[in-house]
Amino acid sequence: MKKIKYRFDPTNLQYVHVKTSVWLKLLRIFGFISASIVAGIILLSIAYSVLDSPKEKLLRREISQYKIQLELLSEKANKADKILSGLEERDDKIYREIFGAEPIDASVRNAGIGGNDKYKSIKNYNNSEEIIKLHKTLDKLNRRIYIQSKSYDELSKLAKEKNEMLVSIPAIQPVANKDLKRVASGFGYRIDPIYRTGKFHEGMDFTSPVGTDVIATGNGVVESIEMKQWGYGNNIVINHGYGYKTRYAHLSKFKVKRGQKIKRGQLIALVGNTGKSTGPHLHYEVLKNNKPVNPANYYFNDLTPEQYEAILKLSSTHNQSFD
Ligand SMILES: [Zn+2]
Repeated sequence: MKKIKYRFDPTNLQYVHVKTSVWLKLLRIFGFISASIVAGIILLSIAYSVLDSPKEKLLRREISQYKIQLELLSEKANKADKILSGLEERDDKIYREIFGAEPIDASVRNAGIGGNDKYKSIKNYNNSEEIIKLHKTLDKLNRRIYIQSKSYDELSKLAKEKNEMLVSIPAIQPVANKDLKRVASGFGYRIDPIYRTGKFHEGMDFTSPVGTDVIATGNGVVESIEMKQWGYGNNIVINHGYGYKTRYAHLSKFKVKRGQKIKRGQLIALVGNTGKSTGPHLHYEVLKNNKPVNPANYYFNDLTPEQYEAILKLSSTHNQSFD
């Protein structure tokens, strides 16, 4: 129902019908709508600032998941760091030590991997600090793993050589001598059997009948075969590599040729009494970098510790050498 408005006119003392124009009506309607819109916007913006939209809620949940994952990844990286540190320590203190390699300097293992510029693209984000930290940890890990793998390459090469070295270095007695009864004279000052004066005996003498087998004490190559009437008499020198050579002197017969490859334990000659010798025996020398060393220290493959003690005692007796 349409409302009819009246206004009291005091001059005429009567009510008059009030007529509102269409324009005024329209203006009022427009004003009402504008006010509603403004109020709506204000209300909505308040609501949005306090409450999240569903999309925002989803994003927020995703971000918190990423944060958790980032923390977990950092923890994992730290664990890997610790494991690698253990490997590095064992590498330096045990493996490299065994194979005679110098430990790798910490400054090489932990060398830098470039400045912060590398991580420019991830700077200035909310979590960029943590992300850059993780990047740095992982980059460092990669570098250390690379260095560690190089070290293992080097060690596996050395181990191969070591195997070769262990079979090459003189390590057994040159004649069968289980009860050690053949040790006649050792390394050091002895009385010369011919000149009867003190003279340095550069090897060890094993008394044996002529024709007893003489065996190579390590893998190597026959470097020289000499037939002499004096001095060492008929003698063989084997080069074992790694700075080691052995000499077998006063032989009666050779069983190998010059340049021949020899295995430890291989028959190379027969015991004799040639050259400057006062009776059938084998004069055996071990040379390290061309200097004679005590052969008693190079029987470690076939002597027990007790036998080693015994042979040291026997060979250090200040007796007369057979030469
Ligand atoms: Zn001798």
